[in-house]
Amino acid sequence: MASQRCKHGLVICEKCVVITDAAKRVHDAIGIAITFHTIEEISRGWMAFALADGQTDHTIYPSKVEAIRHQSDEFRYMYVSLARCIGGMSAKDAQLFLDVHRQAYDGGMRLTDPDNAIMMPQGREQLITRPTYESERGYVRPWKQGREFKPNAT
Ligand SMILES: [Zn+2]
Repeated sequence: MASQRCKHGLVICEKCVVITDAAKRVHDAIGIAITFHTIEEISRGWMAFALADGQTDHTIYPSKVEAIRHQSDEFRYMYVSLARCIGGMSAKDAQLFLDVHRQAYDGGMRLTDPDNAIMMPQGREQLITRPTYESERGYVRPWKQGREFKPNAT
C-alpha cells in the first residue's frame, strides 16, 4: 500500500492528523475504563479496539495475550496497555495510535511479541543486533525512519 506523506514529509504526523470517530470511541472507552476500574486492574490491563471503527468489547484483559486471544483476528485490532494511559488517552493520541497500528499491519508487521508487555518496538533490541544487509534493507531501516519523530519541527 502506497502511503501518502503530509507536507512535513511524514506518513503519520501529529500536526496533520485527522481525528476520526474511531479515535473518539477509543478515547471515550479508555475514559470509561479508567473511571470504573481500580488502579490495580488498570495497571495490568489491556484493551482491544477494532481498527475499522474503534469499537471495543470494554473488557479489561489481564495481558496482551488474553486480549489478542479474545479477538476474531489479531490484525484487525489495536491493543492498548492501560498502564500507559492511566490519565486517559486523548482522541488525537488514539488516532495516531490507530494510524501506527494500521501502518504496521499493512507493512506485514506486528507491534511486538504478544507475550511482551512493551507496547511499541524498541530500539534496544536493535542495539545488540548486528544488522545484516537484509535487515538494514528490509526491516530495520524502515522502522528507524518511521520512528523519527520531530516534535519541535515546524
Ligand atoms: Zn504533517
